[in-house]
Amino acid sequence: RIRLDGVSKRFGTTPVVQDVNLDIADGEFLVLLGPSGCGKSTLLRMIAGLESLSAGRILLDDLDVTATPPRQRDVAMVFQSYALYPHLTVAKNIGFPLRARGRSREQIRNKVTAVAAALGLVEHLDRRPAALSGGQRQRVALARAIVREPGAFLMDEPLSNLDAALRSATRTELTDLHRRLGATFLYVTHDQVEAMTMASRIALLNRGRIEQVGTPSELYDAPRSTFVAAFLGSPP
Ligand code: ATP
Ligand code: MG
Repeated sequence: RIRLDGVSKRFGTTPVVQDVNLDIADGEFLVLLGPSGCGKSTLLRMIAGLESLSAGRILLDDLDVTATPPRQRDVAMVFQSYALYPHLTVAKNIGFPLRARGRSREQIRNKVTAVAAALGLVEHLDRRPAALSGGQRQRVALARAIVREPGAFLMDEPLSNLDAALRSATRTELTDLHRRLGATFLYVTHDQVEAMTMASRIALLNRGRIEQVGTPSELYDAPRSTFVAAFLGSPP
């Protein structure tokens, strides 16, 4: 369970995230949706612990983690750029979080093999990221998050580097994965289609503030503002 309590962020004097209050239940697929520059990535990075807050609190399972370093939070982040280690093989990339936690070689090998099998990466384990396609890199980034067995996955536009066909296929895979893992997914995108097809709930952001939170059909059928209606293309 993730709870955002009056979360705000300023860069210098510019407010980027303003008084965000949001409760995300275990197992939800919550999409943070909004136009470019509205503060989605900044908000996600604050939850991951990669960015400090200007005001407010973040609670994970009722524990205040506002000042807790990223590694000690029960969340794993999947970046838009995938942020893989170019000099390491796929197997070492996936196993990296386990090595950092001092797991044994055998434990790491077993876990990496299992997760790679689940994501169709077994035949690529000895390759380096540069030798993979965009879709395969995206899976490696996902696998590296999965081995940590986090309570929540934080994903920042994970499909934006994929072509249209692969993006659509991967949407389906991600919703399947969400169901299989039973974990909380907090998913950032500016793409309404992604939000409408994947989300159990959408939080629509505009200039750092939440405009509306609800199921895709709630937002589409009962937009609370012209901004929501325009963004989702609701009929007038
Ligand atoms: P996009 O969809 O384009 O990724 P976003 O919703 O993720 O956009 P953010 O990256 O959170 O937006 O940025 C929100 C605002 O904060 C932008 O105006 C951005 O220029 C500004 N910003 C982000 N990081 C910094 C920083 N480190 N210093 C100053 N301003 C920043
Ligand atoms: Mg962003």
